[in-house]
Amino acid sequence: MAQSILTQALLSEQTVILVSGMTCLVMPALMVVYRATRETYPGFGLWALAFVSNGVGSLLLGAQLFLPVWLSLWLGNVLIVAFPALLSLGLNVFIERPARWRSYGLSLLLYAVLQGVFVYYNTDIRLRSVVFSAFVFSYVALFGWNVYEHLPRVLGKRDYLALTVIGATIAIPVLRFGNILLESSYQNPVTFQNVDIIFIMMMVLASVAMVVATISMNQQRLEFDLRQLSEALEEKSAALETLNSQLKTASLTDFLTGLGNRRFFDEEYKTAWKRSIEEQTPLTVLLLDVDCFKLYNDSLGHLAGDDCLKRIGQVLMAYPGFRNSLVARIGGEEFAVVMENPADEALAQAEQLVSMVQHLSIPHPSSSVGPSVTVSIGVASRDANDTNPSKVLSRADHALYHAKSSGRNRALAA
Ligand code: GH3
Ligand code: MG
Ligand code: MG
Repeated sequence: MAQSILTQALLSEQTVILVSGMTCLVMPALMVVYRATRETYPGFGLWALAFVSNGVGSLLLGAQLFLPVWLSLWLGNVLIVAFPALLSLGLNVFIERPARWRSYGLSLLLYAVLQGVFVYYNTDIRLRSVVFSAFVFSYVALFGWNVYEHLPRVLGKRDYLALTVIGATIAIPVLRFGNILLESSYQNPVTFQNVDIIFIMMMVLASVAMVVATISMNQQRLEFDLRQLSEALEEKSAALETLNSQLKTASLTDFLTGLGNRRFFDEEYKTAWKRSIEEQTPLTVLLLDVDCFKLYNDSLGHLAGDDCLKRIGQVLMAYPGFRNSLVARIGGEEFAVVMENPADEALAQAEQLVSMVQHLSIPHPSSSVGPSVTVSIGVASRDANDTNPSKVLSRADHALYHAKSSGRNRALAA
């Protein structure tokens, strides 16, 4: 007898709804605890709210203690229907789709008004069930559509299982009400049916599975975000590398002529020097200086001077004999070439260069040499007993000095 009372109590409609309501309230607590241990991620708050809404709704329907029955019925039903709506919204946020807050809000409002009307007129439980099911179904459909449309881009295969569980959880109350709808024995108010035990067990199981699924989805979402971040980082560091190499090139280039600058020359000259010693090859330096350039600037202006330097730079750059040589602008109107040729060949090339510049025929109204711009070149090669790269440079400078003092517009070897 006692057992039958216990069984009756356990199976009573109200107990079952109360248990399901409390299960639902445990879920957000678990979710919040879980969330607190991790980075926040989108949609979680809405899902937790969905559980709270479902839990409170079920408690209101089950207990009907604190409020008038009509209010418990109305509010309970609305809160339960809010569950799939909130879950669906949460999913939208989670997969970064624009959430349709207004349409969800409006449809919930419509449902609330309809429920109010039904409760007021004590409408048949079947009609209420149809409306309830229709609304829940519409949210399930939206939810499913979002999953179908967008989720594969964010998550992996594992989540189809998880989402099936979530879908099933939402479908369970719909099944329950479908059952009420079809069973002629259901009265108003609803009497407890044995089939409800199966539904409630499914509901509790599905709720637990849902928390597991949510945690798994969160895990994957975090992994996904991490992957995205590291990809973005890789992209950024590649861009940084390009920028760095561009900066390095810029820092070694002479902005006026596009040739190497003094820094470039200093670095490369040392390298060429070492290589020539190791490989026992000749190393010759040409120092080129524009003649009477101060006067050129004075008479034609600094801009014309720049232009003249550019043109001389172009001659050096295009000169076929310098294709494998180090060519740089090492000072205001001074250029240097480092080549592997022996001194006599280099001198011949330097003489050719002198004549090429003269044949540019850049007018120079105040030159002491002639009517156009000319250059002087000093040439010097590495000796076997040279221990220091600057030795060759200073000999080339000396030769340049001699070229200047002996009338300019010429090349002289040291
Ligand atoms: P010399 O024939 O003996 O070499 O006489 P010079 O006038 O060429 O030599 P000097 O060293 O007295 O003058 C070099 C001039 O080069 C002085 C400066 O105004 C000019 N100069 C240096 N750098 C630049 C530059 O970037 N642009 C222009 N336009 N002029 C420059
Ligand atoms: Mg000079
Ligand atoms: Mg000069």
